[in-house]
Amino acid sequence: MQITILRETLPGEARVALLPEFIKKLTAFKVEVAVESGAGNAAFAVDSDYSNAGAKISANRAELVASTDMLLAINRPPANDFAGLKRGSVIIGFLKPLDEPGALEPLVAHGLTAFAMELMPRITRAQAMDALSSMATIAGYKAVLLAASHLTRMFPMLMTAAGTVSPARVLVLGAGVAGLQAIATARRLGAVVEAYDVRAVAGEQVRSLGATFLEVDLGGIATEDSGGYARELSEEALNRGRDLIASRARSADVIITTAQVPGRPAPVLLTEQAVRGMKRGSVIVDLAASTGGNCPLSRPGETVVREDITIMAPLNLAGTVPAHASQLYSRNIMAFLALLIQDGQLKIDLQDAVVGPACVSFEGKIMNQRVAAALEPTAVR
Ligand code: NAD
Repeated sequence: MQITILRETLPGEARVALLPEFIKKLTAFKVEVAVESGAGNAAFAVDSDYSNAGAKISANRAELVASTDMLLAINRPPANDFAGLKRGSVIIGFLKPLDEPGALEPLVAHGLTAFAMELMPRITRAQAMDALSSMATIAGYKAVLLAASHLTRMFPMLMTAAGTVSPARVLVLGAGVAGLQAIATARRLGAVVEAYDVRAVAGEQVRSLGATFLEVDLGGIATEDSGGYARELSEEALNRGRDLIASRARSADVIITTAQVPGRPAPVLLTEQAVRGMKRGSVIVDLAASTGGNCPLSRPGETVVREDITIMAPLNLAGTVPAHASQLYSRNIMAFLALLIQDGQLKIDLQDAVVGPACVSFEGKIMNQRVAAALEPTAVR
């Protein structure tokens, strides 16, 4: 069985799906590992590191694709890679099954098996495979550093001979994995932090990090689904949050927004009017940009300045920390492979509580209901 790591093709992507230090562990599964030349360069993992660890290196991408049984990727590979794979081959990566299901039609056409890291269930047994959390942790950390480097003020309170400098005030919207890491990072830099989330359970986590949790009376509606994710809220419920956010935004120096609802557009939490009420020189980092953003003024992938407020909407912050992002992703992948490979052979048990939910397609049959519904009626067999 051959497992292959290709160069990522997304512009600016610096991560690699598996670092050289994991190749030996992978060959212990009795499989062969092939790596496209230069795949790890941007994460400072060079070809010789991979070959010394026992991988075969090739610059012929088409040949690597045609000979492999499993592709490990960060981002969904381009359609022509799908077309070049043998029927029954396996693809693992962030495949965007809920955001861009149409792009997965080639899985059906070419009889492929695919696992999406986004669909990894959030159960205790799957924690080591939770790549969304790994990447969100890095994004939350880096968002604060970005904001700090653009802010015209410092984060910590300082008492100097020239007088006292007051601490920066940071508002975090969405206290999930990225939001909590943003809170922790901003606190370490000495900022005074407030945070808002619709899930009441987030309050305890926010307070444990030394931040203030902003609470809104949503009239007792269910805000959380069975998987622990936030539900999409009605406009009325969203408006209650927006009013509180607008009032707190006035005194914030930095706002980090991270609110997302899986498979749905990100909720608008920070309105244009709320931004207008902010202090000149403030900074917003919208981490929900890939699903539309939490602020209507955000431009995905760009930094804009409106009313003297800098609004950043980076699409791949984890990719700007490629060494650690690749290391955590590699560990997530290795933990998942331990469920899929036995004695050098693929053993896919779709009844398994982790393998089944993470499966988008099995030998060309779409297994995920939401992807199947999006591809109907042509693609589902
Ligand atoms: P996410 O990226 O989907 O969303 C980020 C945050 O935005 C969430 O906290 C969500 O509640 C919040 N949000 C959504 N809509 C909102 C709105 N209208 N207003 C305010 N906030 C809103 O979520 P995530 O960070 O990936 O994780 C969500 C939850 O899953 C967290 O409780 C996290 O601790 C939990 N989790 C559990 C496991 C596990 O058990 N293995 C692993 C990772 C995360």
